[in-house]
Amino acid sequence: MIDPFGRAVSYLRVSVTDRCDFRCVYCMSENMTFLPKRELLTLEELDRLCSAFIDKGVKRLRLTGGEPLVRKNLMSMIKSLSRHLETGALEELTMTTNGSQLTRFADQLYDLGMRRINVSVDTINADKFKAITRWGSLDKVNAGIDAAVAAGLKVKINAVALKGVNDDEFDEMIRWTHGRGMDLTLIETMPLGEIEEDRTDQYLPLSQVRAQLSEKWTLEDIPYKTGGPARYMEVKETGGRIGFITPMSHNFCESCNRVRVTCTGTLYMCLGQEDAADLRAPLRSSPSNGPLYAAIDEAILRKPKGHDFIIDRDRKAPAVSRHMSVTGG
Ligand code: SAM
Ligand code: SF4
Repeated sequence: MIDPFGRAVSYLRVSVTDRCDFRCVYCMSENMTFLPKRELLTLEELDRLCSAFIDKGVKRLRLTGGEPLVRKNLMSMIKSLSRHLETGALEELTMTTNGSQLTRFADQLYDLGMRRINVSVDTINADKFKAITRWGSLDKVNAGIDAAVAAGLKVKINAVALKGVNDDEFDEMIRWTHGRGMDLTLIETMPLGEIEEDRTDQYLPLSQVRAQLSEKWTLEDIPYKTGGPARYMEVKETGGRIGFITPMSHNFCESCNRVRVTCTGTLYMCLGQEDAADLRAPLRSSPSNGPLYAAIDEAILRKPKGHDFIIDRDRKAPAVSRHMSVTGG
């Protein structure tokens, strides 16, 4: 799958559910309306869809959501997808999770061939954690991270940088993650979906964070890559890595290798654009994958050059109306 700008699409992120057991302030409103269950692809259909992308050259697959681990029987789908790891068609199967269910599932994930996961933790202060996630518990997530590490999974911590919320904690978070052999990635908040808060108040450019961290830590740019948009630095004092994902202050689209598919089978060629392709109809139209392959090919030819996120006080509406939990972070 090569797009019109010569970029090979080898990475698929799949949102297996739009539901979640948290209500993070920057991601969802407290009383979200979720999709009716009948709209969702079954796990078998999701498996077929993922497998079609693997046939077409996807090498890395990340399950996300909503919270992927709240989708019932997800382990059966992972078990089925792991056949592609065994044949070598798929190089990596990973997940982005809020960590709340990991005590229950970490061992199974490892047994099914998963080796790395990202866990989203924006703060290591229990009260703040409650305030950001509304419904989450830091103790539970910490127990989940312990279970994941014990199971043999490599854990990376993702934190959205939020002005006035967690910007006094990055030093502590470096010590916490690197002390446990985990990488830390900071992410700029993006204008996706209506939320109750004002995004201008939350937006913190990571260039500012880098300058702030450089006063305390020796940061060295390194070429380390995980296939995602993060740019990594080594923190000399800890020997650990810190990644920066800067969709707002630096446009990383030129090296974009990914597309996203939702739990209803909608393919988004870019996180920051509205254009999408329906894959559910071609998937259901025939037991053979011909129509599905054709729809995927046609959509890849429409992959846009990039996004154009802006957060400012004059522009109150989000750049993209769908929430991150729909497209999958
Ligand atoms: N529930 C899982 C989790 O929280 O890791 C997976 C889905 S969540 C939508 C994926 C990632 O997107 C999380 O790291 C979350 O912090 C991030 N995210 C959600 N809304 C965002 C936004 N508006 N801007 C930047 N990151 C966002
Ligand atoms: Fe749920 Fe993840 Fe969104 Fe938080 S960021 S509400 S955990 S989907």
